[in-house]
Formats: sequence, structure tokens, C-alpha cells
Amino acid sequence: MNNRELFLQHVAQTSDAPMALEMVSAEGIYQKDINGKTYVDLISGFSVCNIGHSNAKVIAAIDKQIREYMHLIVYGEFIEAPQVRYAKMLCDLLPPHLNSVFFTNSGAEAVEGAMKLAKRVTGRSKMICFENSYHGSTQGALSLIGDEYFRQSFRPLLPGIYHYPYNDPAVIKAIDEDTACVIMETVQAEAGIIRPDGDWIKAIRDKCTVTGSLLVLDEIQAGFGRTGHLFAFEGYGIEPDILLLAKALGGGMPLGAFIADREHMRQLTFNPVLGHISTFAGHPVSCAAGMAAMEVLLDGNYIAEVHQKELILKRRLQHPAIKKIRTAGLWACLEFKDFDTNKKVIAACIKAGLIADWFLFNPSGLRIGPPLIITVEQLEDVCDKILKAIDDAGVK
Ligand code: PLP
Repeated sequence: MNNRELFLQHVAQTSDAPMALEMVSAEGIYQKDINGKTYVDLISGFSVCNIGHSNAKVIAAIDKQIREYMHLIVYGEFIEAPQVRYAKMLCDLLPPHLNSVFFTNSGAEAVEGAMKLAKRVTGRSKMICFENSYHGSTQGALSLIGDEYFRQSFRPLLPGIYHYPYNDPAVIKAIDEDTACVIMETVQAEAGIIRPDGDWIKAIRDKCTVTGSLLVLDEIQAGFGRTGHLFAFEGYGIEPDILLLAKALGGGMPLGAFIADREHMRQLTFNPVLGHISTFAGHPVSCAAGMAAMEVLLDGNYIAEVHQKELILKRRLQHPAIKKIRTAGLWACLEFKDFDTNKKVIAACIKAGLIADWFLFNPSGLRIGPPLIITVEQLEDVCDKILKAIDDAGVK
């Protein structure tokens, strides 16, 4: 059996149509398959590879760390320099009250930690979240996600969770003295790149402050320069009480985090002691890789160039079959007539050497989120290729 057959036979599938491309290498904005065909990565592993693949500084940091040590002991017991240094770096980049980092293995685990922390700090359990939001696949995170189709087969889920339409002013009234937290994506990703209205998100922030509810911003996809700010909330003049990071946080290695005020975080140390524990969380190799990736992101001019590249997407991606384009930095959703049309475009993109995909809650939308290191010339070329793929797909 070849790897494709073994993949379908022995690697558990949750889709009946996985892309099933087999890559042998990845570098910069490119991935190469077993037949030697090169693809431009238009989705960055779903916002993981913001600085591209196989960055030399990240590889060197991983190499150094694996030679020093890998796993030593459960999270939080020993002083592990890569964790300590990366936590300090993140805190220095964030508002002063976001001064304590709890590293996790994944995004969903960061969401779970934040839900527990919000309950512990407020003594409340009601949570408010949003339709078409995605927060992960574990039971708690699944309870938050805003799509009944994905939730319905796994009930009972967590009680006391209320979903509101994103950008709906009605939510402001719903935030009350019983509310532990509001959990939201600063920019909705899987809904197909939906930005919050500036006044609306500020009103949520204000109401949380008045009611003593915590505002939890999920920037697991939106962070790390994607929207043109290091953290997306910087573009809206607000600050969260808990920030959720993952994906690009580990520079290609698995890593997540929930970040909050030290006094809040301290409440996980008593009643009960060890209020949140994990074996591999904050793995030293992931932290070393993530910190190197963050240095690369900050040392380059990548975030400053995002706006110019966003304008290129908006200007160039015009075609009768594209019904709408929504952007948030170097991140776009091209809306086609329906899922069928989008599927044809995606197939044509893959044939043309572009790794493309749709959005979980917006199947008629084509996802565009290349590594931020893509040059203006490469991006112009990608736009030409997308337009040609739409023509080749023969869609209207
Ligand atoms: N939150 C958002 C906005 C996400 O996009 C994702 C994953 O796609 C998650 C949370 C869950 O992260 P993970 O897949 O690492 O558990």
C-alpha cells in the first residue's frame, strides 16, 4: 500500500473528502508534493505559518533546544528557560494587565482554560458567545461554537451558554451581573472574515467592565500580524481581560496560551490547588520555536506591509464570479455564488499550484491568508493565478 492508501485506512478521518496531498518539503510560502509539484500556500496552515515554512532561525532554535532538553516534568513545576523567556516577551508586547501566561498545547485547550478561569474569578457560570464563531473541538469549546449543525450530535454540552449574532447590539443588554465572560473572536475567521463594528466591540468592552464580566478575545487565528496589528484588538482601541493565542504562537510547533492578569491567574493555585494542569503544555521546544518565530515576525517589516498587501487583494481580486470580497489585513474571503462554485474554484486553484480552501461556516467563501512574508510581486502573481483559476473553473 502507498501512503495515500495507508492514510485513508489508518489515519482517522473526519471528512469524506480530505485534500490528501502528500508533501515532502515546505519552505517560505511554498510546499512541494511527492511528484515535485510546487504549491503556494494560500492558507498558511490555517494561520499557523505567518512567517512561512522552515524559517532558518526557527529551525536553529528548535535544534538548540532539543539538544539541551525536551520534556522534563509537568507544566509549571520546573523553571524552563524557553517558557520563561517567551512568556516575558509576550507580556512585554501586551497591555500591563496581561502579565501572566498559561501555556497550553492547543487553541481549544486555551479556550478551556479561559472558561475555567472566568468561572473561578467571577464565581459565575453564564457565558456569552457568538453565532458562526469557532473556538475548537473539545466539549467546552464546542459548547461555545456558533453553529448548531456542529453541536447537535454531541449534546448534552455545557449549560448557561448563550449565542448572539456577531455585531448585534442586543448582546450588550444580555451581558449582566450573572455573566462570567463574553468569549469572542476579535475578527471572526470561519464565518468568512467578519470584522466587528468598532462601536459595538467597544460597547461590549464597556458593559463587561460595568458588570464585572471578563472579556475573552480569541485571537488564535487573528493574532500575530494577520490583521495588520500584532494583536487584532489593537485595531479597535480595546483590551481583553483574557487573550487566547495558539496557531502561529508556536512558530509551526504545537502551542497555545491564555493570558490574563497575574492576580486572576493566581486563583487557579487554590481552591483547588492545581486548578489547571497539563503534562506537555508549554513544551520547551514549542516555546523556543515560538519565540524565534516572534522575533522573525517583529524584526521584519511584515506587519507594516500588511495594509499595502490588503489593498492589492482588494484591487486585484475582481471577477464577475466573485460576489464580494471581505478583508481584514492579509486575510480575505472571496464570496462565490454557492459551495459548488467555490469547490470548482478550489479544485482549479490546487491544479494551478495554489493551496486553497473554504471556511467552516462559510462554504461559499474562498480563504486567502498566505504567509505574511509573501512579497508584493509574489502576491500580484498569486492574484493573477487565482483569477485564471476562476476562469479555468468555468464558473459564473
Ligand atoms: N479558536 C479559533 C478562532 C480557531 O480558529 C481555532 C482553530 O481553528 C481554535 C480556536 C482551536 O484551536 P486548535 O485547533 O488548536 O484546538
